[in-house]
Amino acid sequence: MKAANGVLLCTGLVMLSTMSFSACTSVTPVSAGSGNVSASARPAGTSEKSAQSEGGETDSAWMDLAGSTYEARGKILTWGEGKQSACSITFDDGTLDQFVHAAPVLEDAGVGGSFFIITGARADGQWRDGDDTRELFTWEQAAVLLTNGHEIGSHSVEHLDMRQLELDGNNEKVQQELQESAIEIRRNLPADYLPPGGGLTFCWPFWRTTPGLESEAASFYLAARGGKGLPSGPVIRDPYSIPSVMVLSHDSLPAWARRIELNAQRRGWIVFAFHGFDTNGEKTGSNGWEPIRIGKLEALVDLLQERSCWVAPFGDVYRYAVERHAAELKIGAITEKDMVLTLDDELDDSLYNQPLTLDVLPPSGFEVKSIQDEAGTQLEYELLENGWVRFDTLPDGRPVTLSFL
Ligand SMILES: [Zn+2]
Repeated sequence: MKAANGVLLCTGLVMLSTMSFSACTSVTPVSAGSGNVSASARPAGTSEKSAQSEGGETDSAWMDLAGSTYEARGKILTWGEGKQSACSITFDDGTLDQFVHAAPVLEDAGVGGSFFIITGARADGQWRDGDDTRELFTWEQAAVLLTNGHEIGSHSVEHLDMRQLELDGNNEKVQQELQESAIEIRRNLPADYLPPGGGLTFCWPFWRTTPGLESEAASFYLAARGGKGLPSGPVIRDPYSIPSVMVLSHDSLPAWARRIELNAQRRGWIVFAFHGFDTNGEKTGSNGWEPIRIGKLEALVDLLQERSCWVAPFGDVYRYAVERHAAELKIGAITEKDMVLTLDDELDDSLYNQPLTLDVLPPSGFEVKSIQDEAGTQLEYELLENGWVRFDTLPDGRPVTLSFL
């Protein structure tokens, strides 16, 4: 039987009594240093192992080995890098201005974005959007985006109103729009940089979707971005209609800042949906829809980083949230030399391969000198205040060893 998500269980060498649980929870809560993560705030004596906050944070474990007691604690952090909230910067339609102007802004800041492309129009280099003809980036340029750390997702084959197709009973066309665009992405882009089958993400044309369309999309995609709505909290409720903030030309930075603040309070995931960009304030037909000044994107990225927000591609953040919700962290053997832990989400490791961020507090008086996975690979870690260490690891159930000085 699986324990509640993210809870540390004391297993391995030692039998654990109810008494020792009380002892554990009476330990003074220790801050992880960043201020973003609350350590266990349960009152002493409330020893329910499942009494953890949403997001897999907090709990504790300890061992009694050969007469010595070693106590360790750990928690799965709500978002990557230990940040309080998450954000994905996404781009619809795959217009050339995104490649030329927007991608370099993200790359300079060291963050990845998500580009949802209309695969049917790509070979022509142009997309007829009502009265406008928009220039698109090429497959070669899409490959450059991928190799630079961005995500390429699907925005369907022809950018049709799929809700209307469904109303018309044209389910065959719905399926084609979903399936063929995924096939085209795989045909034209380097497999090494794409997630395995079923791992691509989707974005609904015109933000229009229905429960029927969403269940259809589940056959082909990992998750899909929808339209307006409050940002998702730490737990994703509608994986095929994840809400987004529609960016319009006249949007102001203070308005975005308020949304980012609200998202931080909710410890949520905010998704921005951009279209066009310009550098001189002039709108031309070849820009994407509702072009905004590129300086606004630069300011947004600065703001997110100031606000301790984890900025990562849509698919990565989605994976993180799902894995964290499913994952269980176990502390195994603790000796004077090292401690072993495992993190397992019991999901398909090829598809759910986003590392999760952990904070671990080694036994009192012990200092970590290295962390390595089962294959012997050294994991990077950060020493926090109060003796905690922070590092990323895959939730694949394989042992990770923290060696002590
Ligand atoms: Zn679109």
